Amino acid sequence: MDNSEIAALLNNIGDMLEIIGESSFRVGAYRRAANVISALPRDINDIRGDKQGLTSIQGVGKGIAEKLAQLLDTGKMDYYEELKTKLPGSLVELIHIQGVGPKKAKLFYEELGVESVDDLEKALQEHRVKDLPGMGVKTEDNILRGLELYKKQSGRLLLSQAVPAAEKIINYLQKYSDVTEISTAGSLRRWRETIGDIDILAATNKPRQVADEFCNYPDVVSVLAKGETKCSVLLHNGLQVDLRLMKPAQFGSALQYFTGSKLHNIHLRELAKKRGLKLSEYGLFNLAGNKLLAGADEADIYNELGLDYIEPVLREDKGEIEAAAAGKLPDLIKLSDIKGDLHAHTQASDGQSSLEEMAAFAQKLGYQYLAISDHAQTLKVAHGLDLKRFEEQWRQIAELNRQWEDFTLLTAVELNINSEGKTDFPDEVLARFDIVAASIHTGFTQDKERITYRTITAMANPHIDIICHPTGRILDRRPPYAIDLVQVFAAAKKTGTILELNAFPDRLDLNDDQLRAAKRYGVKFAINTDAHHFGHLANMRYGLHTAQRGWLTSADVINTLPIDSLLKSL
Ligand SMILES: [Zn+2]
Ligand SMILES: [Zn+2]
Repeated sequence: MDNSEIAALLNNIGDMLEIIGESSFRVGAYRRAANVISALPRDINDIRGDKQGLTSIQGVGKGIAEKLAQLLDTGKMDYYEELKTKLPGSLVELIHIQGVGPKKAKLFYEELGVESVDDLEKALQEHRVKDLPGMGVKTEDNILRGLELYKKQSGRLLLSQAVPAAEKIINYLQKYSDVTEISTAGSLRRWRETIGDIDILAATNKPRQVADEFCNYPDVVSVLAKGETKCSVLLHNGLQVDLRLMKPAQFGSALQYFTGSKLHNIHLRELAKKRGLKLSEYGLFNLAGNKLLAGADEADIYNELGLDYIEPVLREDKGEIEAAAAGKLPDLIKLSDIKGDLHAHTQASDGQSSLEEMAAFAQKLGYQYLAISDHAQTLKVAHGLDLKRFEEQWRQIAELNRQWEDFTLLTAVELNINSEGKTDFPDEVLARFDIVAASIHTGFTQDKERITYRTITAMANPHIDIICHPTGRILDRRPPYAIDLVQVFAAAKKTGTILELNAFPDRLDLNDDQLRAAKRYGVKFAINTDAHHFGHLANMRYGLHTAQRGWLTSADVINTLPIDSLLKSL
């Protein structure tokens, strides 16, 4: 189990204890431990191997440490298993619904026999909730609204949850079983910003054996369905994974079909019909259905339809089929085009790693440069640096830069744009940084005129090179602030200000459609990870695929430039 899985389990325990009515001290201890572990810069399994062991983790007491040790060693925690027997079904899930706390969850269980979200929905529909002590029609309505919201949001995964989980399973199946080809499918293969289920497709001539191996995958807690064409399992971190099995001769057409999107496929099938052909998950056929034209290889399907191969990231029916027919698909940016990262924090502000650690990892990624862009003085919550501390950092950077021939740390800053569109330092100070970035971290609820004004005013400052995370949205947690992006794109073009595509998996800001719209204005972009730990630098791929979904080429992105041209262009 990895850190995030363990944190989720500890949070789950906290939820259960709350429903049972344990003391808030006890509940808090599990929640704190979960928080600390989810932010740990090291794998908890490694820490377990240290001399001091798990108790060296601040916030993890002796009792929890012992339980975790058992979990890491055996894959099971007796305490957790015991708690599960005290609470029926999926009662814990109820408290994630807005308007339902642990007390209400317990009440619904005891009085109405509610054991799951479905049970609760039924009780609400039958108006059984309003008659309970302390409830009423209004409470019932509130909970119903909370339930709608819960149903809409729940189950959507971030790419950073879905991609690594899928990669692990694919590796496992490739190694151990009789699989000739294997791939992700669905929204995951298209790298949509959030994912429904994890879909995996495998070609094999021995479906029964592969199904067995899949269901025996060590992370599986329950098998929901098992057959020779499809298996569904639940992993211990709560993710559902569907594996479809098919003959190698149909792998390409099945992969095409199950990758979607729905709209892309509808358009493609219409195109096939016009050409007197029939397209399905089983292959591309003549109209009579007795002659197979393509099936084993996905690219053949596109070619037989008179199209260039369309990368999965583009398959949204947003003009890609027309472009493929005209031979005008964009030459999409690749991960290997990226020469460096222009947004990263260190321990000096709110990051967790040192300059040396950040630089070492950037070099491991093959980068030529990394811009260190710690927060500046006005962002007190993030320990923003004043000029004196920046000068000290510049000295350290200059010292470090002397030892490398083909790698450079760039001096940068992430300014905070205040309500007047002003930032932390006067121009003569800004002129001393290699790169100046600015972003909004305060006043998220201001109106559209104000937020747009702040952003555009900052862009008008010739020292400000980049606007970071331009809409401020955080997936599932914070909607974008009100901002008129059309005005922002026009101003970015006019002032030559770069817009960031923030690659942090819960940001992806700008998103795919916004990137494409901005590109039409002639805007240039920087794809940055906003790393707060050296490991975050590896999140570049989430931004990269979002850039591809926005039809960006390497010419649109400034951190594909070698260092000299980069600095000249800013
Ligand atoms: Zn920021
Ligand atoms: Zn940042």
